[in-house]
Amino acid sequence: MAISMQFSRLTTTRTPDLALPEPRIFQFRKPFSVRCSGDGAVSSSSASASVENDFDAKKFRHNLTRSKNYNRKGFGHKEETLELLNQEYQASDIIKTLKENGYEYTWGNVTVRLAEAYGFCWGVERAVQIAYEARKQFPTEKIWLTNEIIHNPTVNKRLEEMKIEEVPIENGQKQFDVINQGDVVVLPAFGAAVEEMYTLNQRNVQIVDTTCPWVSKVWNTVEKHKKGDYTSIIHGKHNHEETIATASFAGKYLIVKNMAEATYVCDYILGGKLDGSSSTREAFMEKFKFAFSEGFDPDVDLEKVGIANQTTMLKGETEEIGKLVERTMMQKYGVENINTHFLSFNTICDATQV
Ligand code: SF4
Repeated sequence: MAISMQFSRLTTTRTPDLALPEPRIFQFRKPFSVRCSGDGAVSSSSASASVENDFDAKKFRHNLTRSKNYNRKGFGHKEETLELLNQEYQASDIIKTLKENGYEYTWGNVTVRLAEAYGFCWGVERAVQIAYEARKQFPTEKIWLTNEIIHNPTVNKRLEEMKIEEVPIENGQKQFDVINQGDVVVLPAFGAAVEEMYTLNQRNVQIVDTTCPWVSKVWNTVEKHKKGDYTSIIHGKHNHEETIATASFAGKYLIVKNMAEATYVCDYILGGKLDGSSSTREAFMEKFKFAFSEGFDPDVDLEKVGIANQTTMLKGETEEIGKLVERTMMQKYGVENINTHFLSFNTICDATQV
């Protein structure tokens, strides 16, 4: 999840009755979980509930998206909010001057060039626009964000000005108990973990889901892996919000952040016959201790694997990792058995690739 440029907002149209809030301190967010009791009651009001192993995330998501408290399509204010977005992020004097002068202009001794393709990708524009719509639809309600809607300080500052605020974090845990029934909660473009959705649903709030459909596509993929009893090998960063969300929809999973880690895993699968980079089971478990699902066993759970990715990882690297894992499974189980041991789906978004 990303955008290709960050802009300074030079000309803006403000909603007049929205005052600038006090500055807030943002903390680094870590994955977290608390147990919920068998009857679904959350044992801590200060964090999201983690769901039991047999919790059907797919079914929950399916039901949630059809509930009356859920919206992912906006509220019929698309045209005006898009116009506002354009005014705020695209219509600065600098951008205008650059466009009028062949995407290059010199101010004093500084020459500025504007890329021909710039600005928000489709998914980010959609997410921000729906958040703007939420403010228009719910002018007086408290509106929360479960995370930065996108990683762009200008946009996030603007949402703060509109009194769309992030759920506060204490000791690495989101304080969901600040959210009251009737509040509105916006899920960001890179989605939210199923535990958070479950918690919000329990609190009976209005959920406005801006998750990019490309990210939802990855969730569908890991759900297919789970259904077929394949372990999802997710190319991503284990502490990135999008990957945390994706992992929450997976069954068994292992997260690899680059080709070197994927090579280590494949070497382990082949008993050290790829490049000798792997060693013992203990070393494997230590290396990936933050990056696999509960109860994961590399000696058992790497017999059937599927590939998925964090959408902002480099497309070429995900493809290379997919090919490496496929070759590895062919080598170990035979070409004729590859479909039993390997699943690949194209879940790569092209928007951030170069
Ligand atoms: S998945 Fe692609 S289109 Fe969607 S928000 Fe991320 S970069 Fe943009």
